Amino acid sequence: DSVFAHIVRAPEDPILGVTVAYNKDPSPVKLNLGVGAYRTEEGKPLVLNVVRQAEQQLVNDRSRVKEYLPIVGLAEYNKLSAKLILGADSPAIQENRVTTVQCLSGTGSLRVGGEFLARHYHQLTIYIPLPTWGNHPKIFTLAGLSVKTYRYYDPATRGLDFQGLLEDLGSAPSGAIVLLHACAHNPTGVDPTIQQWEQIRQLMRSKALLPFFDSAYQGFASGSLDADAQPVRMFVADGGECLVAQSYAKNMGLYGERVGALSIVCKSADVASRVESQLKLVIRPMYSSPPIHGASIVATILKDRNLYTEWTIELKAMADRIISMRQQLFDALRARGTPGDWSHIIKQIGMFTFTGLNSEQVVFMTREYHIYMTSDGRISMAGLSSRTVPHLADAIHAAVT
Ligand code: PLP
Repeated sequence: DSVFAHIVRAPEDPILGVTVAYNKDPSPVKLNLGVGAYRTEEGKPLVLNVVRQAEQQLVNDRSRVKEYLPIVGLAEYNKLSAKLILGADSPAIQENRVTTVQCLSGTGSLRVGGEFLARHYHQLTIYIPLPTWGNHPKIFTLAGLSVKTYRYYDPATRGLDFQGLLEDLGSAPSGAIVLLHACAHNPTGVDPTIQQWEQIRQLMRSKALLPFFDSAYQGFASGSLDADAQPVRMFVADGGECLVAQSYAKNMGLYGERVGALSIVCKSADVASRVESQLKLVIRPMYSSPPIHGASIVATILKDRNLYTEWTIELKAMADRIISMRQQLFDALRARGTPGDWSHIIKQIGMFTFTGLNSEQVVFMTREYHIYMTSDGRISMAGLSSRTVPHLADAIHAAVT
């Protein structure tokens, strides 16, 4: 008998499991709104033009070799990534008090940051928003932190529970870590306004709470890289410390290349270099060093003025298509006279709409209309097209009437 005979089957990942179910459905009208990946108007995955160009350059360069990267990754990529999120003129970068390490996309950056904090930071409690991306609690728990939640979303208004957020962070123990979605909060699509961010910043700094930003959608929310980075930059401009996990999965469409970065903004260059020395001790026994290809693509684009400009245009086009899907879905529901206020569809930002549909309604839409989404009613706007909006609107209409 197998020495593994006692092993019980683990449940499917709640997000990735949606695609597993979708793939099994033979219906020609089936629609997958579960995945957090961009699709074209034709429903196809998109490789950006600038990515193709950068890859071509890399292939043509015969001097390139496949040696190991250093533990912290590609130095040029790390510098460019810090500049992208913190701003080209960031004093923290100029003062050399930011350490940036290349990690395995956003997830790996969060995990390395979590492990570093668990080993070296004095407060082991991290507050994450309620709700949040389903992987957050698992990443931080396994990193060795103790996870608590703060109120974030108010189902009644389908907007931010700002009072609840301030109360919960206000009663958090001094020094606690707070996970903040830099923009395009997943799954709700609800972000604080800049004025609210400023209040959050003041409260957090007054209680010495440590910000840990998750920036998985820079440029994807508003179409502007700078606008989407503004909350992070506010927290860096005050001279305080913070962590930032970046991902190029969505904004460069490099999902499977696993390109991300963890930056830790410190008070001084001396502290930053000691922090980096310890980050290496976290990374080395985990995966030794990160992969070279994706980081080389990103560095090629970020350092070339023309490729960079072309990237911002392609990025804006993705963001705009998502925004247009919001409008089309909202209009389609209005045209059907679907009961309820659906204005949150056009108010929320980023890849997802938190529809407010409950799990029974989701089950109904999957069974009767072959539409797949997570059971919390989150739909990926990037998975929609002008052709499929009417089918989704019919399904929502039937589900709520
Ligand atoms: N953080 C949030 C909020 C996300 O939505 C995602 C992806 O869905 C990630 C992090 C990490 O993604 P990746 O590891 O593919 O960069």
